[in-house]
Order: sequence, then structure tokens, then C-alpha cells
Amino acid sequence: MRDIVVVGGGPAGSASARLLARDHEVTVLEEHPVSGLPLECTGLVSPDVLEISGIRPTVYNTFSKADFHFPDGSVFSIDCGKPTALLIDRTEFDTRLAQSAMDAGAEYVYSERCSAYYAKDGVGRVLADSGTTYESRIVIGADGHSSRVRRSVCNFMPEMQVRGLQADIRKEMDVQDTIDIYMGSELAPGFFAWSIPFGEFTRIGLCCEWSCGKPSQFLDPLMRKLGFEGCQIISRNAGKIPLGHLKQTYFDNTLLIGDSACHVKPISGGGLCPILKAAPHLAAAVDHAFAIGDFSASALSSYQSGWEAEIGAELKRGYKLRSVYNNLSDKDLNKIRRIIDKPFVRGIALTADIDRPSEVCLKVMRHPLTLLRLFPFLVKGAF
Ligand SMILES: Cc1cc2nc3c(=O)[nH]c(=O)nc-3n(C[C@H](O)[C@H](O)[C@H](O)COP(=O)(O)OP(=O)(O)OC[C@H]3O[C@@H](n4cnc5c(N)ncnc54)[C@H](O)[C@@H]3O)c2cc1C
Repeated sequence: MRDIVVVGGGPAGSASARLLARDHEVTVLEEHPVSGLPLECTGLVSPDVLEISGIRPTVYNTFSKADFHFPDGSVFSIDCGKPTALLIDRTEFDTRLAQSAMDAGAEYVYSERCSAYYAKDGVGRVLADSGTTYESRIVIGADGHSSRVRRSVCNFMPEMQVRGLQADIRKEMDVQDTIDIYMGSELAPGFFAWSIPFGEFTRIGLCCEWSCGKPSQFLDPLMRKLGFEGCQIISRNAGKIPLGHLKQTYFDNTLLIGDSACHVKPISGGGLCPILKAAPHLAAAVDHAFAIGDFSASALSSYQSGWEAEIGAELKRGYKLRSVYNNLSDKDLNKIRRIIDKPFVRGIALTADIDRPSEVCLKVMRHPLTLLRLFPFLVKGAF
């Protein structure tokens, strides 16, 4: 029997495997022939993501400014004064992270899909499409938004799911240090759309709430809005983002991490930083279980409190703010732009940390100059 089987060789699986392989025998099962493909990510991260991971993928561009486009066409611009976001080669990031887990001793079995999972009598059993059953003391469910492992051990579902679609366009933008974010029901109901320049290309995309239908219906309007009609589309990719707070991510012999555990910032949809911050807590809980020879849910429960202390506030607050935002009309958003378009808000933006977006929102909302005027929107959005 193995010590640990990790289902999923994406960033959550590889970040976990790299830490766990220091002291345990780790096998990673990945359904695709490589890590990092197919791509389901924009690749926008904070410098912290590279710092924490120690991975140095190609950085296509860096950004210090953002323009927020409101439904009425008005724009609210912020300048953070320093590079706060990087556009990286996400496929390369995943491949290198997997390689670093292999270097630490993890075994990767590619093209091996987990078709069923159960834990019984102190053993986790992963049944694979190849017919092999992988038995281990611990199984890590790092198998993404539709996690087979999560569905096998509990009925918890993400509180909200959004669908995303993006495309790389052959179009060089004059301004290269600014990310454009578009809000409103016409382009991205329930989330936002984006346009990110990188040299002679521009990455555009959008996410929308599940109930609003397929994101593909909004891509043409976005292309028109940006004046990109007729430009060559180099590549397209799509994906889902699970949002909300999973009350329990530890079970007998089993832990969940990454999209499988809804470790995603609900305001931005970013998942890489939460994963990297949750992984050490997962490794600590697993080390503890091996130390005491107990692999039950209660022996693994410190994982939940560990990751919640690290990223729980951002996930919970971010989800509340996302829910409020989704209940507001385009007219409400335009009115909010007029309230927040103030120099002091731009000052707050100077302290912006894209890994804690809810903190910036709260600072703006709690400021004496905005509190009373924003309050009606908070009440409206909350119900
Ligand atoms: C459109 C879009 C844009 C995004 N942009 C950003 C961004 O700019 N920055 C950011 O930080 N985050 C972004 N995200 C979110 C980010 O991509 C995810 O949060 C992150 O990939 C989650 O990593 P993960 O390892 O949990 O899951 P995944 O990356 O989905 O990896 C899971 C792995 O498990 C494998 N797998 C699944 N099921 C099985 C099975 N049954 N058996 C074996 N293997 C299996 C999959 O093949 C996959 O390799 C974006 C997401 C979308 C959809």
C-alpha cells in the first residue's frame, strides 16, 4: 500500500505532492498526458505566487494599472504605483511545479483517470480507468472544479459556479501596463470581462454566472466593444470556477485542495495563490496523521482550521461581496462609480493586494466619505 495518492496533477496536486514527498511515498494520478494542458486559466498572478511557489515561468507582461469600465461607458482608473500583477505562461507554471514535485520524489502516472473513490477500514481506494486500484493511507482530492474525489466523500457543492471563456487575439495595444476590466450585464453578467495586453497579442475573456447561459454568447459583444472585430483569434479556451466556502475539506483518509475545495478568490476568480497558501496546512495535517498513525477525519481536521486561518476570511468576505455585486443592476453599478470616483479611493488602491481584493473593497466601503452613500447598495445587494 502507498502512503499517499494525489488525484490531479494540476497546481493543487503538484503543490501538495511536492511538500508531501519530502517524508512520504507519493503517487500523483493525472488524467491528461501532461500537467498544464488543456489550459483553463488567464495566468494573471501576483508576484507572491512566484515567490511562494519558487517557480519561475515565462512572464509575458507586468501591470501596475487597471481601468474599470462601467456599464455606462465611464471608466475608473487606478494606479498601484508598482507591478502588482504578472501575466505568466500558466502551462509552463504547471509543468515546472509538477517537475519540482517529481524532483522531491513524487511519482507521476499520466493518462490515468480516477473513475471512482472510496475510503473504508482506514484505506483510501482509487479506482482508475486502467483497471488499477491504488490503495493508500491518504488520498488528496486535487482534481479540479468537478472533483470526483469530492463527490465521492460528500454532498457539498460550490455555492456558486461561473463559466469562463477567453481568447488570445493578434492585436497589439498601445498601452501595455494596464489591465482593462469590464462590468455589466451586456458583457459579463455575474462576473466581469477582461482585456490584457501582452506585446503583439491581447488576451480577452469573460466569466458569467451559470444561470446566464454559455459565455460564448458574450465573446462577440466583447470583441465589438474592444474594436477587435476581424482580428485573428490565435487560441481559445474555456473553464469553470467554483466559488464559496466548503464547510469541510477533511474526511476519513481524504483531504481536498484547490478548485476541488473551492479555494478560489470569489472577487477575482484567482485560484493559484489560495492553493499555495493552503498546501502547507494540508502537508502539516498529513504529517500529523502519519505521526500518530491515525488517518480518520478527526485526526486530519487541523487542515480545515489551518487553511481557514490563512485564506478563509478572503474566501468568505469575497463570496459575500460577489453575491452583493451580482444582485446589483447596471444602473446601480454606474451610481457606485460616481460615489467611489474620488482621490482617496485611488489612494487606497495604492495599497491593493490582488490576493486580498476584499480588503480594498472593505476599506472603500467603510470610509466616512462613502459609507452612508454605499450603504443602500449593500442592503439591496444583500437581499
Ligand atoms: C477562465 C479562467 C481563468 C482563470 N484565470 C486565473 C488567473 O488568472 N489566475 C489564477 O490564479 N487563477 C485563475 N483561474 C483559476 C485557476 O485556473 C484554478 O483555480 C486552478 O487551476 C485550480 O487548480 P487545481 O489544481 O485545483 O485544479 P486544476 O487546475 O483544474 O487541476 C486539476 C487536475 O486534475 C486533473 N483531473 C481532474 N479529474 C481527474 C480524475 N478523475 N482523475 C485524474 N485526474 C483528474 C485535471 O486533468 C487537472 O490536471 C482561472 C480559471 C478559469 C476557468
